[in-house]
Amino acid sequence: MRPDINGIGMTSQRARDRLVRRLEEQGIADRRVLEIIRSTPRHLFIDEALSHRAYEDTALPIGHNQTISQPYIVALMTQAVLAGGKPKKVLEIGTGSGYQTAILAQMCEEVYSVERIRPLQDLAKQRLRVLKLNNVQFKHSDGGFGWPEKGPFDAILCAAAPAIIPQELLEQMAVGARMVIPVAVRDDVQDLVLVLRTESGWQQQVLEKVRFVPFLRGSVS
Ligand code: SAH
Repeated sequence: MRPDINGIGMTSQRARDRLVRRLEEQGIADRRVLEIIRSTPRHLFIDEALSHRAYEDTALPIGHNQTISQPYIVALMTQAVLAGGKPKKVLEIGTGSGYQTAILAQMCEEVYSVERIRPLQDLAKQRLRVLKLNNVQFKHSDGGFGWPEKGPFDAILCAAAPAIIPQELLEQMAVGARMVIPVAVRDDVQDLVLVLRTESGWQQQVLEKVRFVPFLRGSVS
């Protein structure tokens, strides 16, 4: 882990400020989300060889055929799932680099993050430790089962796209909870779906078209 948490040059505070201005122009309005993106060093979540691109609004490779999500999508999903409140318990499926996890950890009381590829999750854990974000628990598992022992959750955020929403995730939403999840409509196109759990069932609304990595079953050591 590089010691330069604040960054210099292409990874500096000025680069983060530029990214936040861009997100605002694209319609991200939640001030808390914008301020946390402004202060979170995304360059620590990607390989050093790519760190000069950390504050471009783009997904980047993180190994194992996976990507760190585009900042706009991280902001959009976080804003949709938190909806102005501070949820107590949040479940994240697809830890990946841990960047989204770090954003959630600063906005919720407890984060539970599940990843199927162990080496990715191990790196993410180290990064969160360096940033002293200690309110996150990790599990190496197929996130299609959720994390039943820790639920129900006030919010669920899924960063990989299944063909249909796993029933287990729907069941682990508390009444009043929100979930954001990309759902595949074709091989390369998905709907980013916001699900609300009410007393009587689940309501769904499509936020926009997105492109995520596929939701794969089983886990990899
Ligand atoms: N928010 C992360 C996104 C990483 S990409 C970031 O910005 O870094 C999506 C992640 O979901 C990948 O790490 C992939 O391994 C993971 N994933 C895919 N299917 C999964 C499943 N069934 N259970 C848990 N994780 C899964």
